[in-house]
This record gives sequence, structure tokens and C-alpha cells, in this order.
Amino acid sequence: MTLKAMRLAEMELVTMYSQAVGQADGLARRALTKALGRALVHTHLLTAHIAKRTRSGAEARLLPAALGDYFAGAKARACMRCHLDRPGASGALERRDPHPYTYICAACHDEIVGEFPPDLAAQIDRWPRAVREARVLHHGVGRASMLNAIGRVLHPLSGLEPELPTPAAERAVIVPAMTPTPGPAPNERRGELTVDKAEGPEGQYVDVLFSPTQVLRHWSVSLAASCKKPRRPQRTQSFFFTNRLPRRGNANARC
Ligand SMILES: [Zn+2]
Repeated sequence: MTLKAMRLAEMELVTMYSQAVGQADGLARRALTKALGRALVHTHLLTAHIAKRTRSGAEARLLPAALGDYFAGAKARACMRCHLDRPGASGALERRDPHPYTYICAACHDEIVGEFPPDLAAQIDRWPRAVREARVLHHGVGRASMLNAIGRVLHPLSGLEPELPTPAAERAVIVPAMTPTPGPAPNERRGELTVDKAEGPEGQYVDVLFSPTQVLRHWSVSLAASCKKPRRPQRTQSFFFTNRLPRRGNANARC
């Protein structure tokens, strides 16, 4: 009963996503299409479990593949990667106490081994059985492997095209269209900084502080000093001190 209620909710989502996809475009359409695909996958997963548990031929006929492709055994067990119990060559894996309970179906076992990078795949046969099973279980419940199961297995079992991951080099250049940055408004005020002119030493200080020539000279002297390892710690210089020529042996000498 619970499974049928969950399926009703998923079917409602399928209806709403289908309507939304028709009204959207661009990135929003792609996101809604993906959400619609996930809702369809959930609907078919629930239908498969209902068909297996109730032994209903009518429910089984709603599936695009034979019920034996969804469940290998007599019971409707749920693998923690594909949520079904599909048949495979390597056998199902099950782990209990002292570890959290984990179950991986036989088909997922085969597929997870195929996902290992070549250097690890070459070592699999030399691992002790416990190590091999632990690594397969750990990899199988990872996000990347579960997304693989959704796209490559559950999509076809739901009557959809396989959803293959986009290669990283192609994904890197998929960016949304650039939106032009608006320029300043016609009546926008320009950003200006005004400094009140003072008399005497304070006025001279302000002149030096805002003089582009002094700033440039200070930076070029600092840059030259960074090229040579100083013999002793440098002292903090004032803006006025930078007017002087570098002394012999001084850390500010050109390199
Ligand atoms: Zn599985």
C-alpha cells in the first residue's frame, strides 16, 4: 500500500514536470528534463517492486523489460546502488555487523568492478576476498557509481535513453550565455575624489601622497630591492625618503 502511495506521488510529479518542461527553455529546460527523468525512473522502480511483491501480471506488463531483468531471486530485495536485485555473474554482496548493513546485487557487483581505474582493476584478483568485497561495497555506494547506475541502467529499464555522463573536456566549455553588462545611466554621477588643499608641510605631504610620479618611483625602487637579498632588515621608508638616490651597498640598489 505504501509503495502504491509513493508511486501515486511520483506520477503526480511526472505530470507536473512534463507540463513545466513544455514551458521552459535553455538551462531551466535541461534541469527540468533531468528531474522528469528521475521521476520516471522512480515510478518504474516502484512498479517493479509492486509487481514482484504482489505477483501481479498487470503490474509486470507496465514495465518495459521482463520482471526477471529487475529481480534475480524469489524475493524483492533492494540493492543499495540500483534499488533492484538484478542478475549478474559475480554474485551479490552482503555485509552485516559490525559494519552497517549493505547489500549490492550481482549485476551491480559486475558493473562496479568495471568502474575501477585500470591500475586497481589489474590488482583485483590478488586481493584477499574480504578486501575485494569491502572495496566493491565502498565504491558501489559512492555518488559517482550510483549516478552511473541511474544513467546507464535504470534509464533503459524505465524505457528511457541511457544518460551518459558528459566528458570533462566538453563539460568545461558548457557555460550559460553571457548577459551584457549595462553601462552607466545617463544621469549617473562620476566617482571623483577631492582632497582639500592644505598649507605648509601638510600640503606638501598631500602633494607627494597623490603624485603619480612619486608612486611610480616608490614602486620601482621597491621592485629593485626585491631582486637583491638585503644584508640587514629593511627599515620602513617614508614617502620623502624615496626621493633620495640609493646609497652604496644599500638594499635598494638596482639588481
Ligand atoms: Zn544493484
